[in-house]
Amino acid sequence: EAKSKSKGSYALFNDDFGITIDRQHQMERELKLSIHNNELCCYFQPQYDYEKKSIVGFESLARWHSAKFGMVSPVTFISMAENTGFIKELGRFVVDQTFAFAKTIQGRGIRVSFNASPVELLQADYVNYVIERFCYYGLTPGSVAIEVTESSLIESFDEVIKKFKILSGYGIYVYLDDFGTGFSSLTYLKNLPIHSVKIDKSFIDEVVTDRVGRDIVDMIVRLAKRLNLEVIAEGVETQAQIECIYDCGCRMIQGYFISPPVPWERALSLLDVMHK
Ligand code: C2E
Ligand code: MG
Ligand code: MG
Ligand code: MG
Repeated sequence: EAKSKSKGSYALFNDDFGITIDRQHQMERELKLSIHNNELCCYFQPQYDYEKKSIVGFESLARWHSAKFGMVSPVTFISMAENTGFIKELGRFVVDQTFAFAKTIQGRGIRVSFNASPVELLQADYVNYVIERFCYYGLTPGSVAIEVTESSLIESFDEVIKKFKILSGYGIYVYLDDFGTGFSSLTYLKNLPIHSVKIDKSFIDEVVTDRVGRDIVDMIVRLAKRLNLEVIAEGVETQAQIECIYDCGCRMIQGYFISPPVPWERALSLLDVMHK
């Protein structure tokens, strides 16, 4: 330390760098303790059928409320968990929370989805774990779904397809998340064993204001219908967007306009008022 200080402005740079690294290590240590410290949980965001005027699903989203760092975005802590190996434990925690929630609302015709990153999906025992827990909770076919991004497909297409088929075989549905932003080849979509595509928020953002944006949503919906896939619009924030999306033929919406992701108990009470 004394040595670096003697180097003037160069030392200052070193110190800043040191602080950043130290903070990152501290966050990684805290993340590893997050389950033990009860700082990790899942929130649930409704997926709403605008035609039925009813909640038909929830997406389970991981939340880390760190005593030291406050609310940390999953975008930050998921990749951190992947880099440190904690992702395995985290992923299993998410699966269990999601399935326990699905079990609680079983029989009401609601499907609960959860996210798996490409790294998780490619872990040798991930799919087995999901199936084992699915059976353990005694969930009915179609009551849960796994959300994976198109980018999962790039690395090991055939292997991932195999996993999708195994999951589907048990009645665990597969959704293609952030659709339109990743792999973006329409030809492969035809043979994919998936149930739904989720139109990425970036397209929904411009659906009202941009003619081309609207055309893209319209095209995705038509293509999905042609392939017998369900479509869910992500990140819907305004009534105008809903109307526009509905005009394009998409009735399933998820976004702050309906509700942000909310804790378990709050999700149950949303169900009391928004489920038919
Ligand atoms: P995602 O799966 O595409 O989830 C949708 C994200 O959009 C969520 O952010 C959600 O809170 C946000 N969102 C929903 N509606 C609106 C809206 O109307 N406006 C805006 N501005 N945002 C909206 P979140 O929870 O921060 O998650 C970000 C990403 O982190 C997720 O994107 C997903 O890729 C990842 N993630 C979250 N939880 C998990 C998890 O348990 N496991 C894994 N592997 N990834 C997760
Ligand atoms: Mg998702
Ligand atoms: Mg998404
Ligand atoms: Mg996303």
